[in-house]
Amino acid sequence: MSEIPFYDTVIIGGGPGGLTAGIYAMRAAMKTVLIEKTASGGQMNLSDSVENWPGEEHISGMDLSNKFLEHAKSYGLPIISGEVTAIDPSLSFHTVRLADGTAVNCHAVILATGGSPRQLGILGENKYYGNGVSYCAVCDGFFFTDRTVVVVGGGDSAVEESLYLAKLAKKVYLAHRRDELRAGRLLQQRLQKECKIEVLWNTVLTAIEADADGVCSIDMKDTKAGGASKLATDGVFIFIGFEPNNGLVPAGVKTSREGYVITNDKCESSIPGIFAIGDLREKAIRQIITAAADGCIASLSAAHFVETQKVGKDACELTVV
Ligand code: NAP
Repeated sequence: MSEIPFYDTVIIGGGPGGLTAGIYAMRAAMKTVLIEKTASGGQMNLSDSVENWPGEEHISGMDLSNKFLEHAKSYGLPIISGEVTAIDPSLSFHTVRLADGTAVNCHAVILATGGSPRQLGILGENKYYGNGVSYCAVCDGFFFTDRTVVVVGGGDSAVEESLYLAKLAKKVYLAHRRDELRAGRLLQQRLQKECKIEVLWNTVLTAIEADADGVCSIDMKDTKAGGASKLATDGVFIFIGFEPNNGLVPAGVKTSREGYVITNDKCESSIPGIFAIGDLREKAIRQIITAAADGCIASLSAAHFVETQKVGKDACELTVV
């Protein structure tokens, strides 16, 4: 049987939280590896413009993500491209299993798996995904140059992405289920100044229809008056929040009703040595900066945890075969 590598800390997920955790873990001289399924950067990559990262007045999400990655690499953070399939916790160490059949053991796991776009769950949404239905304006907006799109949602993402799409599309409808936006004041002010965007208040989508060329219309309902109507559109962009990517959270870790991991102020979950950060963690504010802050907190807390685990033990005894 081949020897399973043993790390102080394994970070799962390479978004702003995971990469910050990696930077702090390397600076704390922990033997660390970061495992990432797709590209580093996570949801940050989908943002056309980040304007609230201190020190950068305006930077694309992709550029900021590359800066995080380069910074982490400058400390020699090992990054494995792979899919984690399970985390088996135990009292003395935890085992992280990968889809290729390999595994790593570690004292601490930092879960930084983020979230995924929430779906409306209406007729046509799944069927026409990639054929007029999208969850990423930066990725797909270009295909709607000089065309009409409907954006769904009333939060920061919906407004920010509507503003982005207004630079390309001929017309943007922003359909929100209430008569008041959740988005921040600054974004709302920008929205008011953008004449290509028309807000459809008290509106929910009930179906998305398509013809041979892709999405062609939506069915809508007025949440106050109750009436139904149809609107012609070439695309539907959905930004109604996120669901936590909690598939790897081990049984026994306490989560909120919505599935977010409940942690203390050290980002520790209810299982010792399992930490959760960023969009996966139950908290009030989900921003790039709060994900990065979580990464710092979790890594420094993990460093302390690892030290206490090692006390009284010879490091050699910790290599599990
Ligand atoms: P969000 O703040 O949770 O807003 C989701 C929006 O979608 C809300 O307006 C909500 O309506 C609506 N919604 C939810 N479920 C719906 C459904 N089934 N049908 C129709 N509408 C539905 O999500 P977000 O905008 O993605 O933002 C997530 C977090 O990231 C927030 O903390 C946000 O501040 C942050 N963020 C920040 C920035 C930035 O600072 N530049 C940019 C993007 C995101 P109700 O309002 O009626 O609940």
